Amino acid sequence: MATPPPRTAQSDPQRTRRDAAPPRRKAGRHRGEGQWAAGHFTPLNGNEQFKKDDDGLNVRTRIETIYSKRGFDSIDPADLRGRMRWWGLYTQRRPGIDGGKTAVLEPHELDDTHFMLRVRVDGGRLSVAQLRTIGEISQEFARGTADITDRQNIQLHWIRIEDVPEIWRRLEAVGLSTTEACGDTPRVILGSPVAGIAADEIIDGTPALEEIHRRVIGNPAYSNLPRKFKGAVSGSPQLDVVHEINDVAFVGVEHPELGPGFDVWVGGGLSTNPKLGVRLGAWVPIEDVPDVFEGVVGIFRDYGYRRLRNRARLKFLVTDWGAEKFRQVLQDEYLLRTMADGPAPELPADSWRDHIGVHRQNDGRYYVGFSPRVGRVDGATLAKIAELAESYGSDRIRTTVQQKMLILDVPEGRVAELSEALAALDLQVEPSAFRRGTMACTGLEFCKLAIVETKARGASLIDELERRLPEFDEPVTININGCPNSCARIQTADIGLKGQLVTDADGNQTEGYQVHLGGSLGLEPGFGRKVRGLKVTSAELPDYIERVLRRFAGSRTEGERFAA
Ligand code: SF4
Repeated sequence: MATPPPRTAQSDPQRTRRDAAPPRRKAGRHRGEGQWAAGHFTPLNGNEQFKKDDDGLNVRTRIETIYSKRGFDSIDPADLRGRMRWWGLYTQRRPGIDGGKTAVLEPHELDDTHFMLRVRVDGGRLSVAQLRTIGEISQEFARGTADITDRQNIQLHWIRIEDVPEIWRRLEAVGLSTTEACGDTPRVILGSPVAGIAADEIIDGTPALEEIHRRVIGNPAYSNLPRKFKGAVSGSPQLDVVHEINDVAFVGVEHPELGPGFDVWVGGGLSTNPKLGVRLGAWVPIEDVPDVFEGVVGIFRDYGYRRLRNRARLKFLVTDWGAEKFRQVLQDEYLLRTMADGPAPELPADSWRDHIGVHRQNDGRYYVGFSPRVGRVDGATLAKIAELAESYGSDRIRTTVQQKMLILDVPEGRVAELSEALAALDLQVEPSAFRRGTMACTGLEFCKLAIVETKARGASLIDELERRLPEFDEPVTININGCPNSCARIQTADIGLKGQLVTDADGNQTEGYQVHLGGSLGLEPGFGRKVRGLKVTSAELPDYIERVLRRFAGSRTEGERFAA
């Protein structure tokens, strides 16, 4: 790396903390967990080193002026596998490498010369022009690929480094970006897809979400966090942003004296060591939400553990401190004021929290939620969705945390016609329980960590279950991961499938899944149980799930959900 590290705010976090922050303790004799607040600024692993060497945000200049002009081979390895994430870029998996090689090969042997590019879609909010632009970029630069992620983003594949500056130019011309879409940064901020229009809304979190974005995203004060930082804001009583598994989440509640505001949750996260977030017991008015967000991300930056990557998420600090201490530090060192106590959110009435179907808005128009298969669309389809939205009088499209989409603001008299037009694109407004409830991560097709295929497997599983169980209409979630990480939230699904190699009946190693059963969020949050020894091969998957669902359907009592 030829570029000397610039002096940025995050290289001296004391400059960015609130003035009244207490004096820091002196660095101890032991290196501890690598917390900056304890004086431990010496990098304790390679990731901390490359972040100290140069801010990830600075890689953009090199992409624009060097790498895009000289090609893939000119990319500095520390940028290629590190800082490029700060701009939403990951190398994708080289085609033809099977899942058995994932843990065996060196990272560079898994790298393709093309990239995945994640477009951040904060709050899942897209205009017609924005969606059309993503669709065009997909067709022109990404071989037509496009996936709606379970964090409301849209991911493209097959991106060449030469095309990245032009892609940014087009995205930014319509108000989109890839800034901090990946990396040890504040990632996309989840928001209710029906914010501002839902008839049952407690409070519209949009102004807070926009202000958080303005203050935090791309701000060097927060661009060197111990690991990724996931945030969410929703004032919907449907609890539609998986608040339980975010680093910080603001959930709409009605305070008996103070009115509508937000309940604060911290420390949720999945991956290989899942934790549900905890409530701080604090009620926050909407105008204070950005301050609290900044305070929590500031705590993470200053007190977060940086020694081991697998202990660096905020959930580990929250577990060690507990909610009471966390709230105290937040108030005393970052907010410099006390937050009011407040109530917990009520449980939602509906098991589905995805807004699929046709729903009346608070202004008398309608929104239409529809379901691709496991979030997979393509550039041409995105462009057609934009065209449909426009021709039915809408300029507002939304993505959801269930890999689904919505078109807002449809006049009542045109809803049926739009639903038919969407169905003609294989985007179902009244999907089967299986299409509605199945999600899949990126998997072996593009992800370098994957062990098994996921997207195509999920799509064929949906088709197979629809054929075998045409009458089944209970809410059920089937989440498929390609490896032990939990990008598709397997621990929170009724049926969670963790990709791994398993032994088939003939004793051969083959693609399959470890089964987790009975996880859920919202109604009765909890993680699914790993069924001891229960692993199924990919080929056995439809038979296995059919058996489980038939058994449930045959024995269920009135009102019993699958997960109960
Ligand atoms: Fe890749 Fe594993 Fe995440 Fe799937 S769960 S996208 S295979 S890291």
